[in-house]
Formats: sequence, structure tokens, C-alpha cells
Amino acid sequence: MSEDPLARYNRILDGTSEPRYLESKRKTADVDLNADTATLWAAHEEALRHSDDHGEPSLLDLKIELASRMLRRCSLCERACGVNRIDGEVGHCGVSETRISSEFLHLGEEPDLVPSHTIFFSGCTFDCVFCQNWDISTRPDSGMCVVPVTLAEVIERKASQTGTQAEGRWGGSARNVNWVGGDPTSHISFILETLRVCSARTPQIWNSNMYLTEPTLRLLEGVIDVYLTDFKYGNDDCARRLSNVENYTDTIRRNHKTAKSNAEIIIRHLVLPSHIDCCTKPILSWIADNLSGVRVNVMAQYRPAHRAREHPDISRPLKSSEYREAEAFAEDLGLDLCD
Ligand code: SF4
Repeated sequence: MSEDPLARYNRILDGTSEPRYLESKRKTADVDLNADTATLWAAHEEALRHSDDHGEPSLLDLKIELASRMLRRCSLCERACGVNRIDGEVGHCGVSETRISSEFLHLGEEPDLVPSHTIFFSGCTFDCVFCQNWDISTRPDSGMCVVPVTLAEVIERKASQTGTQAEGRWGGSARNVNWVGGDPTSHISFILETLRVCSARTPQIWNSNMYLTEPTLRLLEGVIDVYLTDFKYGNDDCARRLSNVENYTDTIRRNHKTAKSNAEIIIRHLVLPSHIDCCTKPILSWIADNLSGVRVNVMAQYRPAHRAREHPDISRPLKSSEYREAEAFAEDLGLDLCD
């Protein structure tokens, strides 16, 4: 029998393991946070290997300092705009201060995840012409500003609340915190600050397009328990035309391998109309060849939202025959598919 791809996640839920971000608060980073950046990164790699020793600064403190430095010449995602976001400059994503569009217990995520405390950030590093969340991804200045300690209190409350659906609430607590958007990458500094003042014993989920730079992904190691990734394209031409991103394939493949090396993964692939041969099949084949044991959600719910109708290939809903072809291909590869 194959191993449960979410074994550690489930151990956190049953109380026999701990969320990684809580561990990162107990690991000591043996460095002065005023040191030069190369020294901080060396200390970061060392601290990741530490066992708990409760010294200061913690590994999480060090991650927050490194994230803050990255904001001064922003290279959180592969667009590497180089703007100084600390001084209010904005790059391609348009994100200046972090804004939250909504946060609630989501019942429509994968069965293992619900109810999931989804926290939707405004703004995105991609420009997908078919974005289903275009109202928040294209408006980084929409939504509410909150301070980390307030959001941490909300997270703790939702992790422990009880209630009934009849009362208008889900009859239970959040099983996880689900950082999403838009995309959470532009907001990593705020997310780490929030986790520093949070104590909820819930797994942390990074729900993302995975267009992070390698250093940004390093900052998530030892903090994130599950990557819920969005693998969109099987080639760079489709990515460039439909999401306005360069070097998509190498970046996303690299980041999936890194994520798999230190956490659990659920990969989502939204099947696009007319993109079975150029995107769906290459993606699924690559996953089968390179990421054994991950769970895959082949999604059928494409609708031509936002500016999709400007592109004839994706200006219609997905045909059921296209979805069946994608699903059969995934089954033939032996992938572990979501129910
Ligand atoms: S996070 Fe935003 S500002 Fe930073 S590199 Fe990416 S698109 Fe540019």
C-alpha cells in the first residue's frame, strides 16, 4: 500500500506532531540579526538543522529579518522587480502594504483540508487572463489592512471555535490556515510576522502559483506544512501568453521539487479548454516522473472569467470529453488523485 501523502499533516491534526512554524520559534539562530545578509543566510541554513534549544533570536526571527531585507530590493518572486517596498515603491504585483480581501472557513477545498481557514490577500504576481479571483488579484489596494497580532487572534479563534451550521457557522474548528490570494508570495513578510505572535496548533498551507525565488522558498522551509500548488502550464509559451510570466516551466518544476523535499504537497491542475496536449498531459507526466507520492487534484471547473474571451482557445467552458481525457490520462499514470 502506498504511503499517505498527507501523513504528517494528519499527525498534526491528531496532536501527535506539531506545526512546523511552532518548531521554528524554538530553534535558535546563532547570529546577530545586524550581521550582513550572507552571514544571516549561513546562520539560517545552520538553524534549520538545529534541534529545539529555545535561544534567541529564533529561526523564525531570522526568517523575518531576511524577508524584510528582501523587500528592500524585492525579489520575492521570479519577476525580481528590485523595488524598495520598505520605502513604499511597488513592483509588478502592485502590493505595497498587505491587505486582506477576506478570511473565512472554506468548505470547498479538497476533502482533507476542510474546513480550511482561507486568508485571501489582495494582489498577485501573475496576470492570468482567466483569473477566477480577478477582483482581488488585480486590485492590490483593495481589502483591509490588519496588524499581525489581530490576524493571529482571528486564526486562534477559528482554530478553536465550535458552533453549528444552523447557527451560521461550521460545526467545528479550522483544520488548517490556508494562505492564498491573489498569491501569498508578495506578503511573506507579513505572514511570518503573524506566525511569530500566533500559537494555534494548526497546519500551515501555502496555496500558491509557486513562482517564488529560491531564497523565498527557503524562508518557507521549516514553517509550511503543506504546499497546495497551482500547476497551470506545460510549456513557457502558454504561460507567457496567458499569465504574462517568463521562465515558467523551469521555475515551477524546480520549486515543486524543493517543496517536496521538505513538506507535503497537493498539486492542483485546472484543465484549460484546448490545452490537454500542450499543458495537461506534459504536467501530469512530469509529476508522475518526478514527484512520486504527491496527491493531485485534476480540476474541471474552468469558466471563461476576466479577460478569457479575448483568447479563442479558452473562451468557452471545458468540455466533459476534455475532462474525461485528462482524468483518464492521470489514472493511466497511476497518480494519487483527489476524490
Ligand atoms: S513580489 Fe511583487 S514587487 Fe516583489 S518581485 Fe514579485 S512582482 Fe515584483
